Amino acid sequence: MIVTIDGPAGSGKSTVAKQVADRLGWMYLDTGATYRCAALLAYRNGIGLQEAEKIAKLLEGANISFGESSSERIVLLDGEDVTSEIRSEAISELASKLATDRGIRRALEKKQRQIASQYDNVITEGRDQGSVVFSDAELKIYMEAEPEERAKRRYKQLAEQGRAEPYDKILKAIIERDNRDKTRSISPLIVPEDAVIIDTTNLTIEEVIEKIINLIEERQNCSKEVSE
Ligand code: C5P
Repeated sequence: MIVTIDGPAGSGKSTVAKQVADRLGWMYLDTGATYRCAALLAYRNGIGLQEAEKIAKLLEGANISFGESSSERIVLLDGEDVTSEIRSEAISELASKLATDRGIRRALEKKQRQIASQYDNVITEGRDQGSVVFSDAELKIYMEAEPEERAKRRYKQLAEQGRAEPYDKILKAIIERDNRDKTRSISPLIVPEDAVIIDTTNLTIEEVIEKIINLIEERQNCSKEVSE
């Protein structure tokens, strides 16, 4: 079974997707990490967006995989643990720019499908998972929350990490990123046609997790009934 979760930055999708995957013993596919690996590859090879075909070509020969180390999830690029390196500001910025290129997106979509095909049950999370990459997924979820609430969450998260930033600056960045994701011409962030929309503004993480697990169980029971 494939379950997709799409939505804007800060809607809580990665936290929720990870925990649902843990509870059900499913594979969690972090597609943002694949864009971040593309950015790291470009950065290390000194290639910019103006040479996007070169990046797409490099990606074809690269191996992106997910693993575990000391019970933490890790991201591997050609066998090297790049988990923290891909979270830097420079890589985040470059990843979001590379995500606007068609060739790079196609190369990464292929990789995402290859990774998913190795597992029986996958929960995948990103911006285009239900609309493009797994358009025939059994369950599609779109998570959203008011920008002010998402900015509040980010503010709290950064403060807890000792990296506090002004709330207004965070809110502005969130609105800008939403606009970029929603208005790009290739695979923009949209609500997939048959998706279940979950507005997390007034919900706790636990409530969202329970909602999604209930939806998964409903779909599993439905498909059991159909096959009997
Ligand atoms: O989710 P995360 O912040 O790690 O994603 C990194 C970048 O990759 C984002 O800027 C986002 O626009 C892009 N992305 C995308 N499609 C996906 C996942 C991420 O365009 N499926």
